[in-house]
Amino acid sequence: MSILSKFSPLAERYGRMRDSGADPFSIKFDDVLSSVEAVVNGRKTVLFGTNNYLGLTFDPHSVERSVEAIRMHGTGTTGSRIANGSYKGHEELEAALADFYGRKHCMVFSTGYQANLAMISTLVGQNDHLFLDADSHASIYDASRLGHAPVVRFRHNNPDDLAKRLNRLKDQPGDKLIVVEGIYSMLGDTAPLKEFVDVKREFGAYLLVDEAHSMGVLGEKGRGLAEREGVEDDVDFVVGTFSKSLASVGGYCVSSLDGFEILRIAARPYMFTASLPPAIVASTTAALETLRAEPQRREKLTANAERFYTGLRSAGFQVGPEANPIVAVILDKVDVAVAFWKRLVDEGMYLNLALPPATPSHQAFLRSSVSAAHTFEHIDFAVELMTRVGREFGLLPDNVTPFPA
Ligand code: PMP
Repeated sequence: MSILSKFSPLAERYGRMRDSGADPFSIKFDDVLSSVEAVVNGRKTVLFGTNNYLGLTFDPHSVERSVEAIRMHGTGTTGSRIANGSYKGHEELEAALADFYGRKHCMVFSTGYQANLAMISTLVGQNDHLFLDADSHASIYDASRLGHAPVVRFRHNNPDDLAKRLNRLKDQPGDKLIVVEGIYSMLGDTAPLKEFVDVKREFGAYLLVDEAHSMGVLGEKGRGLAEREGVEDDVDFVVGTFSKSLASVGGYCVSSLDGFEILRIAARPYMFTASLPPAIVASTTAALETLRAEPQRREKLTANAERFYTGLRSAGFQVGPEANPIVAVILDKVDVAVAFWKRLVDEGMYLNLALPPATPSHQAFLRSSVSAAHTFEHIDFAVELMTRVGREFGLLPDNVTPFPA
């Protein structure tokens, strides 16, 4: 017996998964060739599971600025901003993000996970209430455990259920914070944001939207779902990440609420951790410039997402409800999903295996993320491969072609 014995049930479950071939840690990137291609387990592979939406990980503008920053300012800040001070780059990135969103304030964090942890655990306290969508990302749930506010869960994407729960607490004192996501990370569905805004207004609550998967993806300027739905003025806080469209690592929150800056000394996951290193800050700032200057990347991403989603759906796969860059193929049985995933990886397509209990409705599925850097050849290769394997597995009818004329 040891301190680790309590993990035996988990270790057994993981062992069973590994024995069946479903070990995500068995995926070894021997070399990364581009935003969408790598050598995986010795084989040239097209990447469909990276969240690299705009394909900027190798963008020369970002790479050059990052290299320059590391030479000029070193490899790390070696501490938090409250202890070690802010570098000019941190402030420039915050100003650029505030400008992009047209908001007064921005704070950057060391990851998107920490941005949620900091914002959600700090904005509401024990005399307030926190309202979470049932399918919220782990960082949102973890934030609710770090903070002290009572938590109320409402049904996924269900504004009526939220209204019912807010109504029950309408005479309670304190602030009420609602948290939803722009595009949900597993099934690729969007929140019905206009309806959530109506509910928020009716009950005088605050609204935080995590646009981790929708920033750079949705909206004419790429600001996300709130922009696309025309409700930005009603979203009090936008949280996002640098690890997807901006192709680096880190997180942020923007807001125009007066007094926002106090969070720099109230939010512990901001205060008590090292700030982002210069190279990351520089590449992120450059990637944001590219995102703004090259809307054609977003257009290409949308075209790719539609082609991939439509191809899979017309082949007969059960897919998520919307044609966004996250495309989930829903397979009922875990063992089928595992075998399917393994076959795709063996044949040169990398995507994510999503298994219960980590999935909504406890379904097993294959989760892909499409990139602007994919060519139509990549997309068609993936659709045709999945269709061929789907037929071999007896999951699809033989007589349907993935791309209708
Ligand atoms: N929010 C959502 C909805 C996410 O999907 C993720 C990451 N997958 C995060 C936050 C955390 O982002 P990061 O990787 O920057 O920690």
